[in-house]
Amino acid sequence: MLYLVATPIGNLGDITHRALDLLGEADTIVCEDTRRTQKLLNHYRVRRKDGTVPSLVSFHEHSGPGRLRQILEELGQGKSVALVSDSGVPLISDPGFELVREVIRRGIRVEALPGPSALLTALVLSGLAVDRFSFFGFLPQKSAARRKALSEIKDYRETLIFYESPFRLIRTLEDMKETFGDREACVARELTKKFEEIVRGYLSEIIEKFSIRKILGEMVILVAGKGRKETLH
Ligand code: SAM
Repeated sequence: MLYLVATPIGNLGDITHRALDLLGEADTIVCEDTRRTQKLLNHYRVRRKDGTVPSLVSFHEHSGPGRLRQILEELGQGKSVALVSDSGVPLISDPGFELVREVIRRGIRVEALPGPSALLTALVLSGLAVDRFSFFGFLPQKSAARRKALSEIKDYRETLIFYESPFRLIRTLEDMKETFGDREACVARELTKKFEEIVRGYLSEIIEKFSIRKILGEMVILVAGKGRKETLH
């Protein structure tokens, strides 16, 4: 059985009892960064029944096909494997999609243990429409490709959700303003952490706010869909 286990996106308290139990019982925990997952296991003193520490195997974009084969082999032998990412729900802008596809193809059971994800946490805090939304993960890093990607979705009427790095925030917001016009938007930064910050307003206002200071941390950008007017002002 493969278990897809959600882990905190910042606040370590945001993990379920079921996830902690499962992590202590799995034969193998597949994760991105073993040090980061180890920290979570240590924080909760997750141990196997015999007191030993669960075994961690790293799995990320540079792992290569050998690692995927190894995990599939373990699952084929009837072992239980838990997949976690560095934060949030595995597969969501994180590794695991190929593994899940192959597991389904081979008829192996897969179960998801739900938990926090930055996109839904940001959406419900944004003040933008939640009835319909689309998630695009990370946009291309180069401006021309980014603008092209944005122009393909400029007529969407639902709330648009993106992950972005602090280094590209301003340039991406400017490309959005250029492509979409000056729509209502939101930047949700450091969600669930000590310095959580939600900046709401028109794209031009948000650009202005962030232009005068150093931008750090993890962030989600949300933009109103075409023609959607909420009630921020
Ligand atoms: N799997 C994760 C999830 O379910 O949200 C997403 C992983 S993705 C590699 C990391 C990106 O998610 C960050 O660059 C940021 O855009 C967003 N993110 C993750 N944690 C966040 C947080 N605490 N606050 C704001 N954005 C966050």
